[in-house]
Amino acid sequence: MRLRLSVFLTFAAAAGLAQQKPCPIDVFLDVSQYEGAGAEYPKPRLEAACEGDELVVRSNGIPHYEFIQVTPNPLLEQDYEFRVPLNPKKADKPTPIPLLGSEGFSVGGLAIFGPNEGPVPQEAEFGDPVMHSIMDACMGHTALEYHYHALVQRCLSDVKDGERSPVLGFAYDGFAIRGPWGCLDAECADVVKFKSSWEKVGNPDTDSWDAFDYVAKEGPEYLDQCNGHTDESGDYHYHATETWPYIIGCYAGEPLGMRNRGRPRRQVSENRSGRRPRRGPGGGRPGPEQVSQAAAALGMDAGKVAEALRVEPGSIKPVNPAAAARTLGVAETALREALGGGGNRPPRANQNPAGEPECFFRCGQSDEDAVGCTLTPEHKVVCHRPCDDNKCG
Ligand SMILES: [Zn+2]
Ligand SMILES: [Zn+2]
Repeated sequence: MRLRLSVFLTFAAAAGLAQQKPCPIDVFLDVSQYEGAGAEYPKPRLEAACEGDELVVRSNGIPHYEFIQVTPNPLLEQDYEFRVPLNPKKADKPTPIPLLGSEGFSVGGLAIFGPNEGPVPQEAEFGDPVMHSIMDACMGHTALEYHYHALVQRCLSDVKDGERSPVLGFAYDGFAIRGPWGCLDAECADVVKFKSSWEKVGNPDTDSWDAFDYVAKEGPEYLDQCNGHTDESGDYHYHATETWPYIIGCYAGEPLGMRNRGRPRRQVSENRSGRRPRRGPGGGRPGPEQVSQAAAALGMDAGKVAEALRVEPGSIKPVNPAAAARTLGVAETALREALGGGGNRPPRANQNPAGEPECFFRCGQSDEDAVGCTLTPEHKVVCHRPCDDNKCG
């Protein structure tokens, strides 16, 4: 691989493309070398390539290590195609990651999610899934798809803890996500464990974004609000951290990347659970005018509404209309109505034109007719059939 890389670099230099990053396919795992999720599952599949100015990763979403089920949802084979910019650039200002859904992918070809869970169960809605101990030993679990809420280096690399961490994944803005250890100088004489600069200011039992604030800190081991930094060589990347937000806190670049075809190959009913959260720049984020209108309609102070929605100037937290409505003491439907139907609507029970309720999580194989389920922090599963209480999670 080293040989191929140097050949590419020579070619790139000769062609005057020195700025173009070499295709980073060597950071991806050869998943065919591993046992896979278990005898009852398909073997993991992963292909990485560069096409034009994009890194393209195709995978079947099956872990290369044994799958231990910790949620009621079965492990389903996917047909992923992730595409991210090969040469990411830092944007003028960061972009919030989505409240729900993927923000990137691992070097094993699996989806990476943010530091909060979905809207159920009610007593733990949007809480910290790591704190709630609903993750496996590699900090992944299944919903509609297997995904990570934190990264464990030894699950994705042979590099020892304490040595300079390899790349463990990529965010949708194209920037690499490395493990927690990194260099402080060009020679890498000093390897440190990078730290999140987010401070706990509330209870991450529910809505973990309201429980943490970014507070800039002195010291080269502290990361920026997106959980990244620019190293000595001028390279910007994220580091997975031991504490919240665990992977990334926001996109430092433009989240131009995407995931295509991210649907399970076998699924009970597409139209019940196929709905995807919105993602990407804006992502339904209400603008100042929309907030002013909503505040006027609700007879409230615009600043208060903006703060509750987490869209005040400088905020890079994802919008959560359910939590905002609770903060403001109004019904979520009233807030959504006041916003004119905007506000990064989370996937939850809605009637589609066919009259079928839509849900995000499945209730696994425990109840074929279930349209959703509640997973308590104690792993107790409560199936909804039908999801008429608007809490399908
Ligand atoms: Zn999850
Ligand atoms: Zn670094």
